[in-house]
Amino acid sequence: MTAYPTLKLFIAGQWTATGEAGSMDVINPATGDVIGQCPKASTGQLDAALKAAGDAFPRWSATPGAERYAILRRAADLLRERAPVIAKVVTAEMGKPHAQAVGEIAGSADVIDFLGEEAKRRGGRMIPVRGGQLIAQMVTHEPIGPAVLLTPWNFPVNLPAKKIAGALAAGCTAIFKPAENTPASAQLLVECFVDAGVPEGVLNLVHGDPGPIAEHLIASPVTRKVSFTGSTAIGKQLGALAATHMKRFAPELGGHAPVIVSKNADIARAAAMCAATKFRNAGQVCVSPTRFLVAREVYDQFVADFAERASRIKVGDAGIDDSVEMGPLAHARRISAMEQVVADTGGNRGEVVTGGKAMGGRGFFFPPTVIANPAPDSRFMTEEPFGPIAGIVPFDTIENAVGIANGLRYGLAAYAFSADLDEAHYLGRALRAGMVGINQLIVSSPETPFGGVGDSGFGSEGGEEGYLAFTDTKLVMLAKA
Ligand code: NAD
Repeated sequence: MTAYPTLKLFIAGQWTATGEAGSMDVINPATGDVIGQCPKASTGQLDAALKAAGDAFPRWSATPGAERYAILRRAADLLRERAPVIAKVVTAEMGKPHAQAVGEIAGSADVIDFLGEEAKRRGGRMIPVRGGQLIAQMVTHEPIGPAVLLTPWNFPVNLPAKKIAGALAAGCTAIFKPAENTPASAQLLVECFVDAGVPEGVLNLVHGDPGPIAEHLIASPVTRKVSFTGSTAIGKQLGALAATHMKRFAPELGGHAPVIVSKNADIARAAAMCAATKFRNAGQVCVSPTRFLVAREVYDQFVADFAERASRIKVGDAGIDDSVEMGPLAHARRISAMEQVVADTGGNRGEVVTGGKAMGGRGFFFPPTVIANPAPDSRFMTEEPFGPIAGIVPFDTIENAVGIANGLRYGLAAYAFSADLDEAHYLGRALRAGMVGINQLIVSSPETPFGGVGDSGFGSEGGEEGYLAFTDTKLVMLAKA
């Protein structure tokens, strides 16, 4: 494989491999081998990153949008050029197959392009005045200030790319703290921005223990905005902290996406699409289709088709075998999380139709797993599994299915398959989620907003919303002198 890079922090325009708070192992989840040492930033190094982001903000925010665009455009091109190498590092760090990593990076470059273009495109607006001495009422979108960007490991290039590009395009500076297990993916992405000409201090990269780092960065008076992707539990903690310090907070959290399959849908097609999408990235996707609610008339056929396809997915070390379709889980904790879900089945609590047991041996492998008829109060039906487990439940009426779909506090993605146009419209309206896919399972593109409701968070990334999220709205009312 491509050589694993020496891991570094990037602070005030300087790369350093010295973590003043020590270092931590990086592990290849397919083998369990240590592949790198990641430097941990000390409080002093975090303060240096904060100072750099604060000092760089006045100049970067005053840089014309067209210049910011030009730099982001170059960063996107560098990312495209370097994709084959970066994709290998992504696979080594978190296990996804090479083709999925390449696709993730291509999508990331497109997101950077789109958000960079927003810097040229996004103006404010004029509001008609009511008369009197007033001449104009102008609304503008001002960069909010230095932003703290906290990202997870499941899309170790795409999620940071969205946050970094949104922040930098809008004129914000940033301190980026990636997941502990995917530091090199983050570093190679940051290198694209740096090599594209992002000025000193505008983008800083720090590593270390997430809790203390997040607390320190959020509490700093320099920080104006916090953008976090991760679990609902941590999102709530960080949101409380951000509120204490009156910082703008953008949480993109967990989900437990329902998929309603109507009796009039093409069942074979729906089952094939659902099985392929569910196990992408080993199910470690916040919008992964997971709770399958299937009309009773077609339930048996759907379960049989879905489980058959799931059981044929090739699982293995994608770093050494290009034909592997599903890699390992990201770390050992995810295996025990899957085991807890499966432990709450059996009897009238659901039947494991395929998979269900960790694969043993080296690495953190858990097979595609299908639970038929999980009980409504089972762990599967109530908690986000965030892994390769799907559950399938029969329903009698569409309204009953919508009730189950909307029955959790999550509301990120929801999906439905229906050949009836009226029913499809109804489902699009009735499903409580930030994003709904009908007759297909994609709810993300560079141009569209991505975000949830309820315990899945609020606000959006990507699309024009992903730019505006890093701005404050300002009104200027101008009257005759
Ligand atoms: P985890 O909570 O240990 O870590 C997930 C991410 O949160 C990591 O990137 C980590 O750096 C960060 N994190 C953890 N504690 C933090 C803290 N106190 N302050 C700031 N950041 C912190 O969980 P895990 O087992 O690695 O991942 C599974 C869980 O994470 C699931 O519940 C899933 O919902 C969530 N997750 C969500 C997404 C998403 O796209 N929304 C992505 C990855 C993980």
